Amino acid sequence: MAKKKTVLTVWIAKETGKKPFWREFLTASWGIAKEMGARTALAYAGQEEGFAGPGLPAEEIYVAKPQARFSEDPEPVLAWLENVIREVEPSLVFLPHSVTNAQIAARLAFRLDAGMVTDCVSIKVLNGETIDIVRPVYGGKVMAHFTGTFPIVATLRSSRHPFEEILEENPHALEKEIIVPETKEKVRLIEKKYLCAEGEVNLLEAEIVVGIGRGVGGPDGVQFVKEQAKRIGAAIGVSKAVVDAGWASPSSLIGLSGKKVNPKLYIAVGISGSIQHMTGVSGARTVVAINVDPEAPIMENCDVGLVVDYRKVLPDFISKLAKPECLS
Ligand SMILES: Cc1cc2nc3c(=O)[nH]c(=O)nc-3n(C[C@H](O)[C@H](O)[C@H](O)COP(=O)(O)OP(=O)(O)OC[C@H]3O[C@@H](n4cnc5c(N)ncnc54)[C@H](O)[C@@H]3O)c2cc1C
Repeated sequence: MAKKKTVLTVWIAKETGKKPFWREFLTASWGIAKEMGARTALAYAGQEEGFAGPGLPAEEIYVAKPQARFSEDPEPVLAWLENVIREVEPSLVFLPHSVTNAQIAARLAFRLDAGMVTDCVSIKVLNGETIDIVRPVYGGKVMAHFTGTFPIVATLRSSRHPFEEILEENPHALEKEIIVPETKEKVRLIEKKYLCAEGEVNLLEAEIVVGIGRGVGGPDGVQFVKEQAKRIGAAIGVSKAVVDAGWASPSSLIGLSGKKVNPKLYIAVGISGSIQHMTGVSGARTVVAINVDPEAPIMENCDVGLVVDYRKVLPDFISKLAKPECLS
């Protein structure tokens, strides 16, 4: 009888631990495993006590031993994952998409002689042996389909997957420790500096992001929107036009040339909604646009569009959001 396929989901928690995306990510990979009729395995490395173990919806959980703090050097991660994969023999390996994980996926795929696609937004099982993987290209203008046979390594972009449905606890998960082999250190992290100012919310982890565009009119407008965003603990992102004008630093740029964010709520203020900008917010669950122009492209790409001068509506809108029932 043919061996049952396994989908291996990899979660490497660095010092920030589990980010909000972890649930969406697990949901997506478990959904695909279900579709394939495959076993579900989770490879977890990190320092978060009690993260892995019964309670996660995996049949098998592989934990890094000794409890490793993986940093910027991909070598130990790769060596450990190779050991996990030897044990699990997965058909599909999933990592959440990030620059580091894309590098790990490429090197892992080479070592496993597997196919590889990064930054995927959807995966469909075509038949028992073939899958169709979709990823946006040309700044999100085109969706490219890659068809391949197992084994495949893929990094998955965070998105709007509803996660409530699948996270059934599995108290009978098989737990196993996998040794992290000794590797020669090639890269050492000396210092890590976050590019957001003290007191600002980290853009990549925020549940609410307020995006500022050229339509705010200048540095005063930027300041005005920032103050409003602060009232609800939102992170600030900006469009390229704002960066190019020198009103904000490139570290908060959202889009093709900047960061990809995954908040529950994205409020675009004075942003026209170019494809290059919107590709950075495709992971947002709800998009609210505030724009004076009803014909602005963003009006086609938002869940709620307010056609009005932002100064007239933003303070009241934020006050409504600040109510506990909205923020919970
Ligand atoms: C290769 C390449 C990569 C790029 N990468 C990125 C990227 O990563 N991120 C990015 O953002 N852009 C990127 N761009 C630029 C992108 O194409 C747009 O030029 C940019 O996003 C426009 O920024 P904006 O929406 O703030 O400005 P605009 O397009 O000028 O839009 C301003 C909007 O504000 C509205 N407005 C005006 N006054 C008000 C008011 N009082 N109240 C409310 N609304 C008002 C206007 O109606 C308008 O819709 C890239 C471009 C290229 C070619």
